[in-house]
Amino acid sequence: MEKLKEFKEHLKEIAKLDFARWVLYWDQRIYMPPKAQEARAEVYGKLSRMHHEMLVSLKTGEFVEHFNRSEVLKSLNERDRALIHVVTKLYRRRVAIPADLYERFQTTCSKAESGWEKAREKSNFDLFRPYLEEIVDLVRQFADLYGYEENPYDAWLEEFEPGMTTKELKEIIKPLQKNLVPYLKRLKEGSRPNDDFLKGEFSVEKQKELSLRALRAIGYDFDAGRLNTTVHPFQITMGPSDVRVTTRFDPNDLRSSLFLTLHEGGHALYDQGFDSSLYWTPLADGASEGIHESQSRLWENLIGRSLSFWKFFYSQLVEVFPAFKAVPIEDFYRAVNIVEPSLIRVEADEVTYNLHIMLRFELEEALLNGRIEAKQLPELWRDAMDRYLGVIPQNDAQGVLQDVHWSSGYFGYFPSYMLGNLYAAQIFATAKKEIVGLQDKIAAGDLATLREWLREKIHKHGKTYEPKELMERVTGEKLKSDYFIDYITEKYNSIYRI
Ligand code: ZN
Repeated sequence: MEKLKEFKEHLKEIAKLDFARWVLYWDQRIYMPPKAQEARAEVYGKLSRMHHEMLVSLKTGEFVEHFNRSEVLKSLNERDRALIHVVTKLYRRRVAIPADLYERFQTTCSKAESGWEKAREKSNFDLFRPYLEEIVDLVRQFADLYGYEENPYDAWLEEFEPGMTTKELKEIIKPLQKNLVPYLKRLKEGSRPNDDFLKGEFSVEKQKELSLRALRAIGYDFDAGRLNTTVHPFQITMGPSDVRVTTRFDPNDLRSSLFLTLHEGGHALYDQGFDSSLYWTPLADGASEGIHESQSRLWENLIGRSLSFWKFFYSQLVEVFPAFKAVPIEDFYRAVNIVEPSLIRVEADEVTYNLHIMLRFELEEALLNGRIEAKQLPELWRDAMDRYLGVIPQNDAQGVLQDVHWSSGYFGYFPSYMLGNLYAAQIFATAKKEIVGLQDKIAAGDLATLREWLREKIHKHGKTYEPKELMERVTGEKLKSDYFIDYITEKYNSIYRI
């Protein structure tokens, strides 16, 4: 097993470059001054290239070939076999991309992100369009090089949701769409909760205090992470025991920071929960972006927006913002669950969120297949918003320019958000069956039982199992949208009294 040890050492060297790259990325999004952009793109491009070259090196190729021999593979334990599977897949995908093209992609995306920020600031899609056109062209080239059976979109979906096809995704979306669009109309006839008490001034300092308390409540390890502020919040892992979160503060709306923090905190719990034996290998990662998102959505919504959670956490809110003492918990709970078709995805409620994703999936899949062109996006975006949500953005910043993903070259990523909601509902339904009195525990402030259950069933395994296998192991069945539809209907029928 000397060879296996050597292989893991090699993977560790690759991981070091990757983590260095993430530190630069984190800095770019948090602290970097605007004039540093050009030079940073070059440094980032260089590190990415080095990482890529090591990953696709002859040395990696030799290891991949050696460990895929059936007699060698058979001699490995389950986890090491999974490691070989993941590295082989990664290696074969990356080796398909010439180094020059890969660097061009990284550099283009790095510049495009800044281009996107400027275009968004000026609310002018035309400023971003040339970057996007170049990215779409590169994304298509990548799909051809990765290979696919039916749809170039499959080649990209595989990057974020291993084992899922465009066809399967469309099948999952159908019943969701069929249920959600009319349900949204039904809610409009229900009794809209009062949220007057959520309007006002909420000091950013105090909101930060509340965010920190929320992270402590769910068991985020501050000795292995920290919280920063940014425009478009994210969670990032820069090494074993360095799992950071970011949020943003709106002085007139305390919901925004609180739920964004719980969301990113949910992501962070996943990465903080990896078994230490996975560190420095590609198995120290989520099973997929969708499964990762299931953990953030679970803490943000199924817990963070539940009555049980507020029965426990309300006293903490009152300590930070004493004015809430006069508001009954039930009213607060209903107010943070108001359903309102809105323009911005990241602040969408649970009922409308998936509709935002369907729209993006529809557009990027058509774009990648050449059925539409980039220049049509602002108009198609408005049309789809009207069809799904009944609201139309008045400018590009509130429409097509609101997300960073396309500028980062993340095509095929958006569906992960929707899958995350569906996975979360199904996983939580199982947790309720397996943990006796779960809701009472949460109401009493015991979030550790659920967190440890998730750690045992999901977190500690990292990327050992693909999403389909993981869902079978955890919930005993494959992914179904029924759990999500049932969860939404039951919760919102009660909140809207219909
Ligand atoms: Zn997320």
